[in-house]
Amino acid sequence: MVVLIDNGHGQETPGKRSPDGRLREYAYARDIARRLEAELLARGVDAVRLTPEECDVPLTERCRRANKYGTRGVLLVSIHVNAAGADGGWHDARGWSAFVSGNASLKSKTLARCLIKAARRHGLSVREYAPRVPYWTQDLAICRDTRCPAVLTENLFMDNREDADWLLSEEGKQAVVALHADGITDYAGRAGG
Ligand SMILES: [Zn+2]
Repeated sequence: MVVLIDNGHGQETPGKRSPDGRLREYAYARDIARRLEAELLARGVDAVRLTPEECDVPLTERCRRANKYGTRGVLLVSIHVNAAGADGGWHDARGWSAFVSGNASLKSKTLARCLIKAARRHGLSVREYAPRVPYWTQDLAICRDTRCPAVLTENLFMDNREDADWLLSEEGKQAVVALHADGITDYAGRAGG
């Protein structure tokens, strides 16, 4: 199994920060991606960061890189932090969620369920689409245009004070990394490696 880790936006992507500027999505996702890569390798799972650059890599290029790995024994997670508003202020919405694309395979949905279960085990409050369908469906190029199972995670809200504080804490970072590693290894076990 090789795990492709996408860390979304680049340094120059506008917005995408907490109102106090402490959390920038591109930097946070890269920190998590680096930690997740190390954690997976430590667990004996091959992992690759798709976008090691600090700059924004266009989605077409990210999908092209991912598709070079084919479809078998490969999966992709794209790491993001959610925002409730675009007005630069704090908001009340909070919680963790997983997304698949409209054309998602059963495998992508299974991976999403594994990640959601792991998020709950790590004590995160999960935003569910519906009780029986806990993941959300959206037209996301990184999931839609990649051929392997792919899930995008929105790791809490950067414009919620409590979420931002927790995300920036060492405890929070370790939990976000661990839930991805646990969800992925759970999925890999079901998929037979
Ligand atoms: Zn994002």
